Amino acid sequence: MATAADGRLALPPLLRGQKALVTGANSGIGKATAIALGRAGADVVVNYVSGREAADEVVEEIRSFGVQAFAHEADVSDEGQVVAMFARTVEEFGTVDVLVANAGLQRDAASTEMTLDQWNKVIGVNLTGQFLCAREAAKEFVRRGVVPEVSRAAGKIVCMSSVHQIIPWSGHVNYAASKGGILMMMQTLAQEFAPKGIRVNAVAPGAIRTPINRSAWETPEAETALLELIPYRRVGDPEDIAHAVTLLASDLMDYVVGTTIYVDGGMTLFPGFATGG
Ligand code: NAP
Repeated sequence: MATAADGRLALPPLLRGQKALVTGANSGIGKATAIALGRAGADVVVNYVSGREAADEVVEEIRSFGVQAFAHEADVSDEGQVVAMFARTVEEFGTVDVLVANAGLQRDAASTEMTLDQWNKVIGVNLTGQFLCAREAAKEFVRRGVVPEVSRAAGKIVCMSSVHQIIPWSGHVNYAASKGGILMMMQTLAQEFAPKGIRVNAVAPGAIRTPINRSAWETPEAETALLELIPYRRVGDPEDIAHAVTLLASDLMDYVVGTTIYVDGGMTLFPGFATGG
């Protein structure tokens, strides 16, 4: 069967001539998304915070599609570094059309054991980081306005959320709170920016095979337990998310504003109720 990962489902050049910035783009979902956007014709900024070598490899792969790309180190929870990253993007690419606010992490602990550092780290990167990037992107979108030959919108922001924006998750209160916050942040920004021609939306992945959740799929026992939560009975590939983001950022989805697209194999369908309840 063709899978998203084997490339046979590659999208047409829906983003030709557009400039995209993807945070956390040297690994997992962000990496697949940066590559998909490049394949779709966009020039891409590959943001990372620690993994320079992996970021350089992503840049090379994107350049092989005949578009431009560069890697930029920045901690998305640091205001100064985010501002500098957007300044460099505008300097090198002239503008930015698409932001994929993807960078994220987990610092898991039972709530009674969770330190303030663990709480602040996850909220800082997953939620504040997305806000800072969205704010800087929106400033540039408003400054430039709509360029009809490029896109019907003045700009597109895709927030990487999670099924945990609506599914509570014991032992992960910082992460679930950050993703619940993204839902309301995304909708509020969408409401505020839509009159300016800016589309803000989110993609909410279910269980995707990446380093962030390795323990959930790397042994057969863990994967069997995980599949119980997924009606479609497969763990997702990063490309499943990348394709949804690419479509959402393109004019094919121009009338989609303030929406979350769940890409989760049905995880949010309350699978426990298939046989219970
Ligand atoms: P991943 O492979 O661990 O990638 C996380 C990325 O975030 C890395 O590129 C990392 O960069 C970057 N990052 C971490 N802290 C950062 C910071 N302060 N500033 C800039 N970049 C930072 O995990 P992933 O699964 O692809 O996760 C990507 C997003 O998808 C996250 O928002 C996550 O919550 C969401 N998500 C994932 C799943 C899943 O099942 N995998 C499900 C739902 C939602 P470095 O490598 O340089 O540290």
